[in-house]
Order: sequence, then C-alpha cells, then structure tokens
Amino acid sequence: MDELSLLAAADARGRRYTEGNATRRVFPSPEAIAALAAFDEALPAQGRSAEDTLALLDRAGSPATTASNGPRYFGFVIGASLPAAAAAERLMLAWDQCASTFDNSPVAATLEGLAGRWVLDALDLPRESAVGFGTSATACTLAALAAARRALLARQGWDFDRQGLMGAPEIKVVMPALAHITVKKALRVLGFGLDRLIEAPVDEYGRVDPARLPSLDASTILCLQAGEVNTGEFDPFAQILPIARAANAWVHVDGAFGLWARASSLAALAEGIELADSWTTDAHKWLNTPYDCAMTICRDAQALAAAMNCDAVYSTASADAQKNLTLEFSRRARGIPVWAALRTLGRAGVAELVDRHHAQARRIGEALAGAGFAVLNRVVLNQVLFRCATDDATHALRAAVQASGEAWFGGTVWQGRPALRISVSSWRTGDAEIEALVSLLVRLGTPR
Ligand SMILES: *Cc1c(COP(=O)(O)O)cnc(C)c1O
Repeated sequence: MDELSLLAAADARGRRYTEGNATRRVFPSPEAIAALAAFDEALPAQGRSAEDTLALLDRAGSPATTASNGPRYFGFVIGASLPAAAAAERLMLAWDQCASTFDNSPVAATLEGLAGRWVLDALDLPRESAVGFGTSATACTLAALAAARRALLARQGWDFDRQGLMGAPEIKVVMPALAHITVKKALRVLGFGLDRLIEAPVDEYGRVDPARLPSLDASTILCLQAGEVNTGEFDPFAQILPIARAANAWVHVDGAFGLWARASSLAALAEGIELADSWTTDAHKWLNTPYDCAMTICRDAQALAAAMNCDAVYSTASADAQKNLTLEFSRRARGIPVWAALRTLGRAGVAELVDRHHAQARRIGEALAGAGFAVLNRVVLNQVLFRCATDDATHALRAAVQASGEAWFGGTVWQGRPALRISVSSWRTGDAEIEALVSLLVRLGTPR
C-alpha cells in the first residue's frame, strides 16, 4: 500500500472508532483485554507490512481502549478531544515539525507564541509571563520549580548553574498537606527531599488554612493549588498571596485543571491567583486537547528562559523559543492544538465548557445526596466526592460500575476512608449522560 492509501486507511479506521465513541463500553470487556495477547509476538526478523500492522493495531487495540474520548468517562479529569484540536493535531502530524525554534519551524514558533498570549488572556494572568508548552503538568511543574529555585538563589548571589546545590543557601518548600503527588514528584526529582518539605495545614475543605500558614521568607517556595484532585477546592489565594509577596517568597500554583475556572463565571474561586510567580496548567485535561499538552507560565519570563536555556553553538535562538522554556529540545508543537481549541471555542466557548461541567457536577452531587449517598465535598468545581454507607459498599459500587461498561470513575481515600471520585470534563458529556450516570449509581449502589 502506498503512503497516501495507508494514511487514508488509518483515517478511515480512526473515523470508525470515533463514530463508536458514544456507544462503546467505557472500560473494555475481559474478552477484549484477553485478546491483547494478539500483540504477543517476537520482534520480527523481517519487517511486516504497514497494512497488516495497522490492521492488527485496530483489531486488537481499539476494543481494549478505555472510552476516555467518549461522553461517559468520569475518571481523573481526563477530558475528551475537541474536534478542532484533534483535527489540527492530525495536520500537525503530517507536518512533523521539530518545534524547538523559529528556524526549525516558523509556523510552530508563530502559533505557539500566539497560543501562549491567548492562554494568558483567557486565564487573565500577567501578560508579560513566558508560556512554555510541555508534555504534562508534571513536567511543567518541574520546570517552574527549577526556575523558582534558581531565581531565589540568584537573588542571594548564588550562581546555581555553575555552583549547583553543594554549599548553596537552603531553599525551603512549603506546600499544602494535600499537594498533588506530581508536585511532590517534581520536588523529589529536583532534590528538595521529601522529609524537608514543610506541610501547610488544610481546613475541613482541603484548602490551605491562612491562619496556620508556616512562616515564609525570601528563601521559600510556596506551592499552592487551584483545584484539589478530590474536592476541586482552591487555596485562598487572596488571603495568602499578599503575605507571600511581603515575605519575598516565590509562589507556584498547581492549577492542572482548576486554573480554567479563571476563564468562566467561577473566576472568583481563583481571585488573587494572578499575584503568584508561576503557574502550571494542563490543556489535555479541561481544555480537551489531545495528549500531551500542558503549560508552564512564569511571570518573570527571563527566569524561566534562563533556567531552561538550551542554546548551543549549532542551535541558538531567542529567549522565547520553546526549547528555552521547556524540558524538551526536539519537541512537537503541542501549542498548536491549544491555538485551535481556543480559536474555535473563543472566550465564550471556554466559559461555557467550564460552567456546564460545573452545573453537571452540581446536578450529580444533589441527586446523589437526595438518594442518600454521602456527598463529601461542596462541588465548587467539576469534582463530586462521595461514598456509600459502608466501605465495602463503596468498593462494590465502583466495581459494579466498571463491570457494567456504562460509565467509569475512580476511587480515592478521603479523610481516612474510601471514597469515589467523579470528574466531569468532557465536551461530549451532555445532560442525558449525567442523568444516566445518576440512575446507574442509584440502581447499583447501596447509599444507606
Ligand atoms: C492531573 C494533575 C496533575 C498532573 O498533571 P499531568 O498532566 O498528568 O502530569 C497535577 N495536579 C493536579 C491537581 C492534577 O489534577
């Protein structure tokens, strides 16, 4: 098969898969999982045909996907792919650009620059900030925290790039007791030491309590969060950030999904967040772009560009080149699907997406409470946290929902006991799917 026919065949298979999004089982059947054994072959001595390879991928692979690109997937704030973002991604694959610098790809550099400005506009963050498009909130948080530490050390006259950490003044980290595991991972990988991290106590809702905030100074990085993974709650930025600024601490905000509240009628949840120094957010979650797509946003553009600089004699570029704002050197232009998503949604469309998911989550919360389930959070955003009368019933409900293939969501532990976590974040999820989810839970669950 020639190249164009092969690509057309892949497009046709992709189209058939997408057509099935609304009806496919949300978690694959045991038979589909067993059939993955079809891939279990030795590395062939001679290459097999591309046509056969594609056919195998579709035949054995497609049935063993989770339908996270469908309307009934409620796990992990995963989000589906917006048609415009998915379509832009396909064209981008044909281009196969190495989007490190303008010289490598004028179109990628232009569109990622624009996408960055639009993101700052949509989220109403300081317009002078640098925006690096990285693979994930994890990687983007790592980049932001590296820039933060380097900048705090530089203010004390310490040259981190040349001297490293041996003998350097200590940089402390204060973070919420409920900080996301990937923030802890970034800190651990950067060598901050888990036992040295200072936990800020949280209130009954899971927000950092300003009254019990550990002391901050010019050698402190304070991590906060917009959108706690279980409850969707926001730390009280308007109260905490003036204290942090007065202390000359660096504030980094993990807003992997919650930062998008800034673009909706829920913006008050994140009031004061614009006073922070750096922020992380994902596009592959609530903006519904394909993977992998996230952003490091850094108020002091130079601080990020210096920390991530990757210029070499054979590859120099401006400070705003993406290779100088992210961990990657060779990279895909992951800002392009962001541009396509924002251009097609517009300001109004982003607000509508976030507001609709909030309303749908509230509807789930009210219906579950009405049915006698214990709803454990205030449903301020798109997360519903709940449990059944007993821990066994909570586990059993999760298993029964997964086995039904009708919906999927995950479990967690909240205040020492098992709980269930529903996230509404797919553009495909309509009110009918919300009502179907509620009926399913009432039918399968033991609320009282
Ligand atoms: C998902 C998530 C992360 C990590 O994001 P990745 O893009 O998966 O690395 C960090 N923080 C919060 C609050 C999240 O929900």
